[in-house]
Amino acid sequence: AQNTRESLYIVSQFAANFFEDQMWNSPEGKTIGLSYFKERGFREDILKKFNLGYSPDVWDALTQDAIKNKHAEEYLEKTGLAIRNDKGKLYDRFRGRVMFPIHNFTGRVIGFGGRTLKTDKNVPKYVNSPESEIYHKSNVLYGLFHAKKAIRDQDNCYLVEGYADVLSVHQANIENVVASSGTSLTIEQIRLISRFTQNVTILYDGDAAGIKASLRGLDMILEEGLNVKVVSFPAGDDPDSYMHKVGAGAFKTYIEDNRKDFILYKANILLADAGNDPIKRAGIIRDIVESIAKIPDNIKASVFIRECSSLLQIEERILLTELNTMRAAKL
Ligand code: ATP
Ligand code: MN
Ligand code: MN
Ligand code: MN
Repeated sequence: AQNTRESLYIVSQFAANFFEDQMWNSPEGKTIGLSYFKERGFREDILKKFNLGYSPDVWDALTQDAIKNKHAEEYLEKTGLAIRNDKGKLYDRFRGRVMFPIHNFTGRVIGFGGRTLKTDKNVPKYVNSPESEIYHKSNVLYGLFHAKKAIRDQDNCYLVEGYADVLSVHQANIENVVASSGTSLTIEQIRLISRFTQNVTILYDGDAAGIKASLRGLDMILEEGLNVKVVSFPAGDDPDSYMHKVGAGAFKTYIEDNRKDFILYKANILLADAGNDPIKRAGIIRDIVESIAKIPDNIKASVFIRECSSLLQIEERILLTELNTMRAAKL
């Protein structure tokens, strides 16, 4: 099994080199792949740092080159780089897409995300590698290899939704950023972050899906005992689009000025649709205390109860009673 894993790493690295070479050196890769990234505003040093590439729009370009270079079909299949059709012939999973290699936190290539260049709604925007012996989505954070030193130094980890967000935040000279690409955030991913810092700042998309995911994510992060803050983006923007819209400097300022602790963030979202309706407001208070009840540390929880009390003008004693009821119900 150890040998198989090593072979899967080797063929994945071969594929990453192939896609990279295609993007920088082939006519198709340059005019389609590289131009695409440049039009989106990505700098060459960022494209190189993350080993981005391009998969030719041909049935089996990678497969042919891999076989020519003595890579076994078995490993192409096991990594999901190639798929066998009903006639027994191998074809490439990724075709005509810009390629994002996914590294594990020691820097080895373990999978890929490929983005279509088409605007056709019937084509999936991203195709990702399937699970394999070396790629377990729920344990991987995109960008962690390039971020881990900065996460330690800054003692904070920015969490974004997508590959492009990681690149753009990096381009704004914020290097402590990772994405839970290909899955919604998992406990394993939070534990991975906790090896480097206890502080997470969520930067999800400014749309309904992003808000929903941030509320789920912050509860999970609290439950793991980490501290969490959230920055929301204007409706329709994600960190990537916003960075290119306002520029690196303004982006950095925006993040610093709009970082909210989870109580303020939840209160803002929930109060916006409750107005003055007292029943709705009571529901919101309960909702916030529910998040506080996830915090394992009692002293930390009591600090947030105090903040909640002053923010929402509710007696601390009442909130504490509610907190204790919720905790008792969980036991
Ligand atoms: P872009 O900026 O390139 O349009 P995005 O990262 O903003 O992409 P979102 O739609 O916000 O794309 O999705 C966030 C992340 O979810 C993506 O980066 C990708 O990892 C994943 N994702 C999106 N669409 C799909 C899909 N059809 N299949 C699998 N994963 C997807
Ligand atoms: Mn989105
Ligand atoms: Mn997005
Ligand atoms: Mn985007």
